[in-house]
Amino acid sequence: MTRVGVFGAGGRMGRTVCAAIAAEPAVELVAAVDPYHAGIDLHQLGIPDTGLQVAGSADALVDANADVAVDFTVVDAARKNLDWCADHGVHAVVGTTGFGADELDALRIRFEASKANAVLAPNFSIGAVLMMRFAELAAPFFDSAEIIELHHDEKVDAPSGTALLTAQRMAAASSEWAPDPTRQVVLEGARGGEGPAGIRVHSLRLRGLVAHQEVLLGAAGQTLTIRHDSLDRSSFMPGVVLAVRAVADRPGLTVGLDPLLGL
Ligand code: NAD
Repeated sequence: MTRVGVFGAGGRMGRTVCAAIAAEPAVELVAAVDPYHAGIDLHQLGIPDTGLQVAGSADALVDANADVAVDFTVVDAARKNLDWCADHGVHAVVGTTGFGADELDALRIRFEASKANAVLAPNFSIGAVLMMRFAELAAPFFDSAEIIELHHDEKVDAPSGTALLTAQRMAAASSEWAPDPTRQVVLEGARGGEGPAGIRVHSLRLRGLVAHQEVLLGAAGQTLTIRHDSLDRSSFMPGVVLAVRAVADRPGLTVGLDPLLGL
C-alpha cells in the first residue's frame, strides 16, 4: 500500500486529490499539508472518513511515513516542497504549474542525485495528454499554429503549463513555420505571447471555466482544430493516481504523463 501525503490539501486541486486518494484501494492518504488551512479536519473540506487534520508543515509527511507526496500548490511553494522531497527521500508527484524549462533541467539533476523520484506533469488529464500528442503529430504537416488556452478566473499564472508544453513539443516536431504576418499591433498583446518557434499562445480567463485548450493548425486550404475540455477537476484524478502508483519505479525526473501511458 503506497502511503501518500498531499501538499496544498486545502486548495481546489488538493481537496480533490485527497478525496481521490482516500477512495483508492491501492493507496492510502496519510498526511495533508497546507499552512493556510492548518488545523482543519479533512471532513470539513468535504473529504470523508480519513480522520486526518491538515498539518502546517512537511514534518507531517515524515511523521506519517509517507512514500509519495503530491503537490498542487503555487510554484514558489512547489519549488521548496520538491527540494524537501529530494532531501527526505519522499517521491514527488507534482501538478503545480509555472516551472520554467531551465528549472526542469535543474530538477532533473537534483532528482538524479536523490533516492526520491519525481513525476511532474502540467496536465494530469489523459485527454489533454492525448491532445498534446495529436498536436505534435500534426505539426510537421501544417505551416502555422496558434494555441488558445482557457481557464477559470483564479488561475495566477499565464500561459498555462499545458499550453507552453504543447508549443514546445510542436516546435520540436517541426522547424518549418510561416512567419507572423503582423506589421502593426494596434492593441498591445493582441497577438498573444510568442512561444517556441514563434507559435502564439493566447490565455483567456473566465469565471465558470475549468481548464480548456484549442490547438489550431493551418495549411493551404485547410485548418485542423484539436480541442480538449476538462469540465471538472475529477478529470485529473486518474492521471494523478497513475503517477502516484508509478513514481517509485521511475528513477529521476519524469516530465509529462506520456511515458506512464506508453505514448
Ligand atoms: P488553489 O489556490 O485552490 O490551491 C493551492 C493551495 O496551495 C492553497 O490551499 C494554498 O493554501 C496551498 N499552499 C500554498 N503554499 C503552500 C505550501 N508551502 N505548502 C502546502 N500548501 C501550500 O489552486 P488550485 O486550483 O488547486 O491549483 C494548484 C496548482 O495546480 C496550480 O499551479 C494550478 O495551475 C495547478 N493545476 C494543475 C493541474 C494539472 O493537471 N497538472 C490541474 C489543475 C491545476
